[in-house]
Amino acid sequence: MDLNLCNKVVLISGGSRGIGQALCDAFAQENCRVYFFYKKNKTLAEETVASAMEKSANAFVKGIQLDITDGAACENAVHEILDVEGKIDVLINNAGTTKDGLFLSQEFGKWESVIQTNIFGTVKLTSPVAMAMFTKRSGSIINISSVAGLTGVKGQTNYCTSKAGLIGLTKALSKELGLKNIRVNAIAPGYIETDMTKGLKNMNELSKLIPLKRLGLPSEVAKTAVFLASEAASYINGEIIVVDGGLIA
Ligand code: NDP
Repeated sequence: MDLNLCNKVVLISGGSRGIGQALCDAFAQENCRVYFFYKKNKTLAEETVASAMEKSANAFVKGIQLDITDGAACENAVHEILDVEGKIDVLINNAGTTKDGLFLSQEFGKWESVIQTNIFGTVKLTSPVAMAMFTKRSGSIINISSVAGLTGVKGQTNYCTSKAGLIGLTKALSKELGLKNIRVNAIAPGYIETDMTKGLKNMNELSKLIPLKRLGLPSEVAKTAVFLASEAASYINGEIIVVDGGLIA
């Protein structure tokens, strides 16, 4: 199947680790021009570039350090990319954070931090990119939500709220932008092997609850994103694809 992604300009937030790094690999493999944002981890960002270049000798991959909660930084970086490329075809809002704790004992600061990054960060980045896509009457936006936003998880009220919010954002935006030929979809991963899940103590117990009896790989989320961004998904808009090994089926 021709995915028709060659030379597409792809922007990925949170590309220095985990799912974001796998996204950079996967889109580089499709010969896209890949830009990614990361917050602080320069060494890992360099590893992302090296890894993606290994996947495809002709790949173009560039990391830009910024905090997505800084709206002006997002806007400047997006315009820098547009000055070079003239367009952004695909945006993947992947950067996200957790600050877990039981609701009754959680300080408000942790709520602010999670909502600032996962919701406002996503909005601040989406806004200038969507405007550029609107001008071109073409684009695909993919938000990385979570099954946590669909089912709720004890100890993650702030994170679940943010990920459920991304689903609302996806659905509403798909209706606003669809008529301009911009598709907006979301992926809701289950438990994926990354730094985010490394600290979970009960991983063996959790694996038993997953029908496939294992955690997912970042590359398995990335493959879904490649599909959603591609021609193969040209009539999919406003959809949430769950990638969780059957956990919430
Ligand atoms: P990681 O914690 O491994 O990586 C997070 C990435 O986001 C890093 O590249 C980090 O940059 C970047 N980042 C975080 N905050 C900001 C910010 N404010 N500005 C710019 N970049 C930022 O996460 P995962 O790969 O595990 O998760 C990726 C996405 O998938 C997240 O949205 C997460 O909620 C979601 N998800 C993950 C699941 C899992 O099981 N792992 C399950 C369901 C959803 P740096 O390295 O510089 O800190």
